[in-house]
Amino acid sequence: MKKFVYFSLLVFLISSFLYVRYLKGEVKKDDVSVERKNYIGVKYEVGKGETFVQILRKSHLKNDVIDSIINSFSKIYSPKKIDVDDQVFIFTDEDFNFRRLEYKNDPSKTYVVEYTSKYNSYIINNRSTVSIEFIEGEVDDNIINAIKAKGENEKLALNFTKIFDWRIDVFSEVKKGDKFTILFEKEYIDGEFYKYGDIIYASFENDKNLYEGFLYDDGNGKIYYDQNGNSLEGTFLKAPLATYYRISSTFTSKRYHPILKRYIPHYAVDYSAPKKTPVYAASDGYIIYVGYNYIGGKTVRIDHENGYNSEYCHLFSYAKDIKVGKFVKQGEVIGYVGKSGYATGYHLHFAVKKNGKFINPLKIKNEENVTIDPSKLNDYKIYVDNIRTLVLGIKSFKNFPSMFSKSDFIFKYADTFGKSPNI
Ligand SMILES: [Zn+2]
Repeated sequence: MKKFVYFSLLVFLISSFLYVRYLKGEVKKDDVSVERKNYIGVKYEVGKGETFVQILRKSHLKNDVIDSIINSFSKIYSPKKIDVDDQVFIFTDEDFNFRRLEYKNDPSKTYVVEYTSKYNSYIINNRSTVSIEFIEGEVDDNIINAIKAKGENEKLALNFTKIFDWRIDVFSEVKKGDKFTILFEKEYIDGEFYKYGDIIYASFENDKNLYEGFLYDDGNGKIYYDQNGNSLEGTFLKAPLATYYRISSTFTSKRYHPILKRYIPHYAVDYSAPKKTPVYAASDGYIIYVGYNYIGGKTVRIDHENGYNSEYCHLFSYAKDIKVGKFVKQGEVIGYVGKSGYATGYHLHFAVKKNGKFINPLKIKNEENVTIDPSKLNDYKIYVDNIRTLVLGIKSFKNFPSMFSKSDFIFKYADTFGKSPNI
């Protein structure tokens, strides 16, 4: 029976793969460059400080034509927003009459001005393909590098660590030999990597536990659950920053302070981290303090539910819009690691109070209080089984090296956003 399931999956994957190839061919067919073969095109890259008018003047168009282009272009994009390295393509006919302008600052869109009997402007949403891909591996030094070693970038690694932030501190608790798997969406535009979509499933395994995260929407939004339908999200993040080297000081009632040169209590955890590492709100709450003091340097304090307060010191800078009274979500960036105030090196000093008393942030119990809507639990269990079957299937396909030479490559499904107008 299992064999049959794998076989059907294999057939499905191969046909999806062929379908994508077919689609790619189709993209070529109506690629504008084929249609515009009678035009002469010149590509300009916007230089530092260069304006839209300056670019157009380079193309030796007449002033009234330039005015008309700008006029038409302004209806779809502000010429003032043109920035360094953006691309402008200008096409003329054989008599050097303006026919078409294309502007690109992002692979997902092309801004077009064209002239037939009058000037016309519109936006083309470029074809995008979403593929579902899978990687698995083992940690050598740290999890970020282990994911990067699989050919993915840091963004995916950070998305992965965020899933398990409430259960494990992926920087201090992860050891060599721990295993991970990630099933995720990857978006391509014209065959080029554009961005990551959702991580659909992730697992992390050490010698004690297997942690799994299934992304699921029970009608109240997509979040990650464990296999039993308990949300992976807890009250407090295990570590409120994007990455760090090590915990340089723990919660203690006596610690020798290198600058003050005496023993004082340290009711906080210090995370030694690279300069400007993003610092996250450890839990949802309202900002109650943003300011500088000579010990803590640039400091943010947040008031949370159930009598909790958290404090973040020695920041390099605050995140945009961070001010007293603002509500922040757990995981939202509130500032960046620095060494302002009394600090010997770049680190985050993170303190938590419960009902006015300092408590050890590393010992906060995360209750699994959010669970899946009970009426959706059966659907969810089926979903969990399907995802596990898929992951098992993928792992077994990797034994067919000739078919999947890039061993971790999985399958793609095509999706077309928008459509190029005929020109
Ligand atoms: Zn400290």
